[in-house]
Amino acid sequence: MVNIQNLLRKNIKNLKPYSSARDDYSCESGIFLDANENSFGSVPSGEYNRYPDPLQKIIKEKLSTIKYVASKNIFIGNGSDEAIDLVIRAFCEPGKDRVLIMPPTYGMYKVTAAINNVNVIETPLSNEFQISEDLVLAALSENTKIIFICSPNNPSGNLLDKDSIKSIINSFKGLVVIDEAYIDFSCNISWINEIENFNNLIVLQTFSKAWGLAYIRVGMAYANEEIIDIFNSIKYPYNVNGVSQQMILKALDFESEKDFFVKKITRERKKLVKALDSLDCVISVYKSDSNFLLTKVTNASQIYNYLISKKIIVRNRSSLPHCENCLRFTIGTEEQNLQLIKALKEYGD
Ligand SMILES: *Cc1c(COP(=O)(O)O)cnc(C)c1O
Repeated sequence: MVNIQNLLRKNIKNLKPYSSARDDYSCESGIFLDANENSFGSVPSGEYNRYPDPLQKIIKEKLSTIKYVASKNIFIGNGSDEAIDLVIRAFCEPGKDRVLIMPPTYGMYKVTAAINNVNVIETPLSNEFQISEDLVLAALSENTKIIFICSPNNPSGNLLDKDSIKSIINSFKGLVVIDEAYIDFSCNISWINEIENFNNLIVLQTFSKAWGLAYIRVGMAYANEEIIDIFNSIKYPYNVNGVSQQMILKALDFESEKDFFVKKITRERKKLVKALDSLDCVISVYKSDSNFLLTKVTNASQIYNYLISKKIIVRNRSSLPHCENCLRFTIGTEEQNLQLIKALKEYGD
């Protein structure tokens, strides 16, 4: 067991959280004159005049039956990006503590740490985009509070080795965040069931990718109750707006449609790998457990600009470690992928 309270910043440990009107009293019916809302209605119409549930209780109850995780172990955020910020803000003393990341990886860990004036230690993934455990262990110091692991990893697309992850969770005395934004597209099971076994494990998931709800900004963190309570005590009181909450509640009744999208996307992924592999300008396509393909090409910036001229926008990841001349293609619809392949064929080599 890791002592969570000892990891916390002192000011957060001593914090007396803001208590909102809806925290004090949250019954459904009654004459609500407590929150200075407009009691008459909304402009121009509709029922948007009341503050939403600050703790999104109904969503958590529904999610808990789908994910087999208790409500008390779920945090809902304004995108999973909110949880990345909260974990850094709660546990890292600015100018003193550190987080560890493994590039090439999701850019928000580093940026969010920098915004909070928290140092970032980087131990690159191997050539095969796997965790270099020795590098990680050697880089840890007393001030290292959080290790961010992205699996499947963005931008490489692959799952990171289970045993390496487990050994890091086991030996590290700080927090391990596993970002599973792309877990729906992978063949592995989630780490969320392991939060019972490791009180220093935080698993992030999101509605932005497989569920197709990036527009409404909702993500989750699954963790030990102690950590969830800390997140809840420092988040904005109404961090997930009511319209998004309503949409999520509806979406959760249609989980099979998400699975249907995942099937379509993984089928398209397989076709796209094959088509890309046959092109003269493609050197290699990396194995993907995600909804995108990292692809090494003959000249990334030239091809990137060429595709822009054809109104096809992809991501150039060439500046990241082990990603020289690499473009990242999100899996599109059948038609979009055909257009991409057609354009790349016309480009030549
Ligand atoms: C897209 C993505 C997210 C999603 O963030 P949201 O704030 O939930 O939209 C998180 N992590 C990674 C690695 C991603 O690629």
